[in-house]
Amino acid sequence: MKPKIAILCSGGDVSGMNPALKRFVEYAYARGMEPYFVHHGFEGLIDNLITPAAYSDVAGIITRGGTKIGSSRSKRFMEPAFRSIAAENLKTHGITMLIVLGGDGSFRGMERFYTEHGISFCGIPSTIDNDINGTDYCLGVDTALGVIKEAIDQIRDTASSFRRAFIIETMGRNCGYLALISAITSGAELCLIPEIPIDIHEYTGCFKSQIAKGRDYFIAVVSEALNSTEVAHWFEEELGFESRVSVLGHIQRGGNPSVYDRLMAYKFVTYAIDALSEGKTHSVICYTKSHFTFKTIDEVALHPYRIDEELLSLGREQFLPSHCQM
Ligand code: ADP
Repeated sequence: MKPKIAILCSGGDVSGMNPALKRFVEYAYARGMEPYFVHHGFEGLIDNLITPAAYSDVAGIITRGGTKIGSSRSKRFMEPAFRSIAAENLKTHGITMLIVLGGDGSFRGMERFYTEHGISFCGIPSTIDNDINGTDYCLGVDTALGVIKEAIDQIRDTASSFRRAFIIETMGRNCGYLALISAITSGAELCLIPEIPIDIHEYTGCFKSQIAKGRDYFIAVVSEALNSTEVAHWFEEELGFESRVSVLGHIQRGGNPSVYDRLMAYKFVTYAIDALSEGKTHSVICYTKSHFTFKTIDEVALHPYRIDEELLSLGREQFLPSHCQM
């Protein structure tokens, strides 16, 4: 009998999940397995929304953001009784392996599931926040950065026409990765993230001098973990500069998957299927220092993610008030 393998998406969706589903179906068949979809994440596992996956299901989806099979957060999956129902559903279908696209919470849940019911799984880090410890890259980040870049480039056009300061708030939960990369690559004047604490008032003198010399707009990128409205007030009250806050919100999650996310989806899924079929039972496939490695759930979920030190020091060099060019 052919081994049966399923895939599900859990937590926030990211652009790159659909390319991952396509590779999953094609590579599972290529390896002589029977692929299945679990619809709507752990909720679908509990409610038996489990269907065989065909090539036709993934035709044409590589260009689409989001996930064709849906995702969810599931309170019920936190309870052992519902995890037992989920395990029974998988066993009824004869499915013994599961690939989970999600974050560290989802992997923690899967580890419990594996310990209780012996269903092997491999996690693929998928979140635009890029905040999972143990991996340099999470699926969806590159597309999100592209969306933010487009937004900031367009905001810059209007900012310069109207002599305004634009405060652009990016996602990232407690992690400043999206904001830092976006600020550096969009030529922002200011970047505020939790990892580089800054007293904004230390910028007042330098920015006043820049205004006196003719600067007619500012772009500030602020992580959602900090208070973008406060930054806007500071521009208005201390610099006399009209300001607007632009919260990018959920547009950051969507969009046509970038080339890099399509390639990473392809590689993550390939390594995950290989690992499961070779007997790896409960790991997360990580991308570190340009290599793919398998890590335990504790390695990815016990410690908070920290932005790479080299990147942080570049950020400090660029954005600490003491380095502001008058
Ligand atoms: P993420 O996977 O992005 O970190 P969450 O932390 O919201 O997202 O977790 C996603 C889902 O994983 C939760 O809705 C829940 O169903 C499951 N989960 C998280 N932590 C646990 C846990 N300790 N035990 C069982 N299930 C969990």
